[in-house]
Amino acid sequence: MARQKIALFGGTFDPIHLGHTQVAEAAAEQIEAEEVVFIPAKCSPLKGFFPRASDDDRLRMIELAIQGGKGFSASDCELRRAAPSYTIDTVKRFQQEYGEETSIYWLLGADSVNDLVLWHRIDELIDACHLAVMVRGGYEAPSFGKHLAALGPDRVEKLRRDVIRTPSIPISSTEIRERLAAGRDVRRMLCPEVWRYICERGLYKRD
Ligand code: ATP
Repeated sequence: MARQKIALFGGTFDPIHLGHTQVAEAAAEQIEAEEVVFIPAKCSPLKGFFPRASDDDRLRMIELAIQGGKGFSASDCELRRAAPSYTIDTVKRFQQEYGEETSIYWLLGADSVNDLVLWHRIDELIDACHLAVMVRGGYEAPSFGKHLAALGPDRVEKLRRDVIRTPSIPISSTEIRERLAAGRDVRRMLCPEVWRYICERGLYKRD
């Protein structure tokens, strides 16, 4: 019997945008994952600052953006842990919950490749799951050669095998926050329910 596959998609999602949901959909199709779980981080260790929107608002925006998305769900497991959010802890938790018969894929955008060797217990993480790097609009195609010395040839080869082809969608949460602070339109970057939520709650206005 084929192993079950699930994709975990971690990020700050401050806010979640159409780039996130569209690449997640394409990734799930390519991996043949039955489920994609969106996991907002309390605080990304490498960003080094807390998100602008509250944990509750970010989780609620994810729920609004994925409603009706086939196989999409959200987990607050990292929000309930103390910051920072380490991916290896989350992967282990899901592996335990789903059992050894399930293959775990962790989705990440190509912009994360440069920093990869700084991730907490990165060797263990690469061994524990499929770190699936997705193409990201505005960034170079993923290339792992620079990590050869730090990670070794077997892990680099595994990363290369796990690259997934997703559409290039040049949207970022930073640009959305900046545009909102400047009173500019962001509707083409967000799902309508998330846009309405941001307006109703007055999120990301200039301080
Ligand atoms: P910010 O601009 O605040 O850094 P972001 O848009 O990069 O935010 P995150 O929540 O940090 O969004 O991203 C979560 C994950 O999704 C990361 O692995 C990131 O690389 C990936 N990602 C975000 N936007 C895209 C996109 N447009 N295409 C592909 N991957 C993306």
